[in-house]
Amino acid sequence: MSQLHVSFEFFPPKTPAMHEKLWKSVEKLAPLRPDFVSVTYGAGGSTRVRTHETVGRIARETKLPVAAHLTCVAAEKDEVDSVLKDYWSAGVKHIVALRGDPPGGPGDPYTSHPGGYANAAELAAGARKIAPFEISVGCYPEKHPDSPSFTADIDMLKRKIDAGATRAITQFFYDNSVYLRYVERVRKAGVDIPIVPGIMPVTNFTGLRKMADICGTTIPGRLVKLFQNLDDDPATRQLISATVAAEQCLDLAEHGVTHFHFYTLNRDDLAYALCHMLGVRAKPRSAKGAADAA
Ligand code: FAD
Repeated sequence: MSQLHVSFEFFPPKTPAMHEKLWKSVEKLAPLRPDFVSVTYGAGGSTRVRTHETVGRIARETKLPVAAHLTCVAAEKDEVDSVLKDYWSAGVKHIVALRGDPPGGPGDPYTSHPGGYANAAELAAGARKIAPFEISVGCYPEKHPDSPSFTADIDMLKRKIDAGATRAITQFFYDNSVYLRYVERVRKAGVDIPIVPGIMPVTNFTGLRKMADICGTTIPGRLVKLFQNLDDDPATRQLISATVAAEQCLDLAEHGVTHFHFYTLNRDDLAYALCHMLGVRAKPRSAKGAADAA
């Protein structure tokens, strides 16, 4: 297996207990030396302050490279630009540039803010005008639900790359063949940046089905069967979830995937175990540095 890279996605915590949980996860995962960790931006900019605080704290108190998710929703270009300038001066040099979902939630028609960036490609271009940010973007192995076709969707990905994106992270998926076909498709279309699979271990299957429905992610029948009748059995669910995610990651690694992005939901346990299984370990010599990093 070639050298594997990992990254971890967190969301900005709301309560002191959630803060503690996030920080514990950061400390546990830091010694694995992720390429970066990222912090999401709540729908409609709802976590703006909390995202900035969380990103700022990781940048100040750890040595982890941190990426801030940023969306175009409900914001003037000037507002977004000032956020970008603040990030750059705080040492945050990596942005996950996203259009974001409509304020009414995914599925509602998206209307861009009249004075704002219309989509992630425009946002990426705007960020690059401000400073030479590293830019990651989202991509959709099962096509973005708003997109009229795969061709339009891949064209949008190409526009994001033309605007400066150097990495695309996928929407979560559970059928690896869907991801592998997508990679083949974008390569044929001339896309050569890394297409990093976004791995979302199943925690609450009922909630996940709803989210998958909205995002256009297929839940294979096999998974439906596996999680049947387990709504009130979190311990078994957790074991099955770990097994399913491990199978998915190991299979992707066998197919040559070398970077995994984990949607951690601020939990370290599954992401840590999956990294361990993939051979991504804290090195003893770097453990001190890693402890410094946390
Ligand atoms: P874009 O790539 O800009 O557009 C999505 C699709 O819409 C395109 O494929 C295209 O087909 C169509 N489209 C858009 N504009 C045009 C146009 N002008 N002309 C033609 N077609 C167009 N959401 C959050 O709110 N906060 C987050 O932190 C967050 N993190 C995410 C992280 C990842 C890795 C991913 C995959 C998604 C994340 N999302 C987040 C969700 C994301 O905001 C939604 O999926 C959103 O609906 C699309 O964002 P995008 O940047 O992919 O959009």
